[in-house]
Amino acid sequence: MSYTVVIVGRPNVGKSSLYNRLTGTEDAIVEPTSGVTRDRKYGVAEWAGKSFVVVDTGGIDDEGENGFEREINFQVGLAMDEASMVLFVVDGKEGLSSGDQLVAKRLRKLKCKIIVVCNKVDTSDKEGWINEFYQLGLGDEIFPISAVNGYGTGDLLEAMITEIPSEEEDESMLTRVAIVGRPNVGKSSLLNTLTDSRRSIVSEVAGTTRDSVDMTYNAFGNEVVLVDTAGLRKGKSYDDDIEFYGSIRTIKAIRSSDVCLLLIDAEEGLTRGDLAIFREITEANKGVVMLVNKWDLMEKDDKSVTTYTKALKEKLQPFSDIPIFFTSNVTRQRILKALERAIEVAENRKRKIATSELNEIMLPLIENNPPPVYKGKDIKIKYITQLPTRSPAIAFFCNTPQYVKAPYMRFLENKLRDNWDFSGIPVRLYFRQK
Ligand code: GDP
Repeated sequence: MSYTVVIVGRPNVGKSSLYNRLTGTEDAIVEPTSGVTRDRKYGVAEWAGKSFVVVDTGGIDDEGENGFEREINFQVGLAMDEASMVLFVVDGKEGLSSGDQLVAKRLRKLKCKIIVVCNKVDTSDKEGWINEFYQLGLGDEIFPISAVNGYGTGDLLEAMITEIPSEEEDESMLTRVAIVGRPNVGKSSLLNTLTDSRRSIVSEVAGTTRDSVDMTYNAFGNEVVLVDTAGLRKGKSYDDDIEFYGSIRTIKAIRSSDVCLLLIDAEEGLTRGDLAIFREITEANKGVVMLVNKWDLMEKDDKSVTTYTKALKEKLQPFSDIPIFFTSNVTRQRILKALERAIEVAENRKRKIATSELNEIMLPLIENNPPPVYKGKDIKIKYITQLPTRSPAIAFFCNTPQYVKAPYMRFLENKLRDNWDFSGIPVRLYFRQK
C-alpha cells in the first residue's frame, strides 16, 4: 500500500541529504505550492522491488527556543499522523545534544517503528560516534551513515526494507478508488454526493495509518473501497502546512489505489498543480478518470464539451486516452457515471491479453507499417507478449530494440489502444532482443 517513512531530527543534521539519497533526487517530486512556507519534501523511494513514500520534514523558519519546540512538535505530529516508520537523524560529528533528547522524548510516544540514524559518519573509523546515542533509548540498533557519500546507507536500506511489507501481502480483492485533486476542487463534496445519493456505506475500515480511513462503498452492486476518506475531511488545522499534508495524503492515496478520480475545477481549467497530480498517477501506473467539476458554473453551448475536451487532451499529451466527465456536485450530474467508468478502468487494468491474440492482431499491423529503417538496418518485430505485471506492460521482441524510436512506440501504443480498451490506463512498452 503506501508505507510512509518520515525523517525527523534537529536542523542541520542532514535530513534533506538523507531524503535525497533515499529518493535519488535533488528535488521534491511535486513543486511546493503556494502557502507552503517551509521547505518540506516528499517523494517515492524504490529499493529491492518495494516502494515507499519518504517525507522530509525540512527546516525551521522560526528562530529561538520556541521556534525549535514548535518545529519538533510539528515533526512529531506529522510522524504520528502519517508515518509507518520514523528515521530519527542525529549528527555524529556534533554528538548528542539536548535538542536530540527533546526529539527523542516526543518520539517515545509513537507506536511505529523508529530507527536512529547517525549521520556524518563518512568512514568506518568514525563508527564509534554512534555509541553515545544509545542513551536516547530508542531502538536496538543505531545505523552509522553518511548521507552525502553514501557510507552505510546500504545497511540502513536493508534494515528498512525488512520492515516494509511487499505489495502482494496487502492486496485486497476490492477495487480501490482514490478521489484526488487540488484543494477546493470539490473532493469532499463529491464524497458527500456519493454517500448521500446511496445510503449504502457498509463500513469504515482502518487504513494504513491510524488517521487514514478507507470506506467501503456499494456502487452498482460492486463493493469498492474509497481510499483514505479521512484525508478529505476538513477540520484539522495545520495552518500553512495544510497543503503540505494534503500533498502527502494525495501521493499516499494514489499509491494505494487501483484507479483515481482526478477532479479539476472547470472554471480554472487544467493547472500545473493538476498536471503534477496527473503525472503522479501515471508514474504510479494507476488508472485515471478525469472529472471536470463545478460544470454547473460554466456558461455553455452545444460545443462546450467538445471544445473543452479537445483543449484538455492537448495539454495531457502524450497520454490523453482517458475518460473525461463534466460533473457537478450541485446538480449531481455524471458523478455516478464517472465512478462506474472508474470501476471499468480498474477492471481493464487487470486485463491479460492472450499472446496468440496479441500476435494475431498486432503483427499484421506492424507488417503493414514497419518501423523505419535505422542506420541502414531493418528493424523486425517478431513476437509480442504481455508481461505478468499488475498494470499493463507489453514486450516486443525484435532484432535491434535500441533502434525503435519514440514516434514508432507511440504508433504501437495507439494500435494497442485501438484494439483493446486501455482508456485511463498507462501502458508500458518494452523492447527486447529476441
Ligand atoms: P475539496 O477541498 O477538494 O474537498 O473541495 P470541497 O468539496 O470542500 O469544495 C470546495 C468548494 O467548492 C465548496 O465551497 C463547495 O461547496 C464547492 N463545490 C464543490 N463541488 C461543486 C460543484 O460541483 N459545483 C459548484 N458550484 N460548487 C462546488
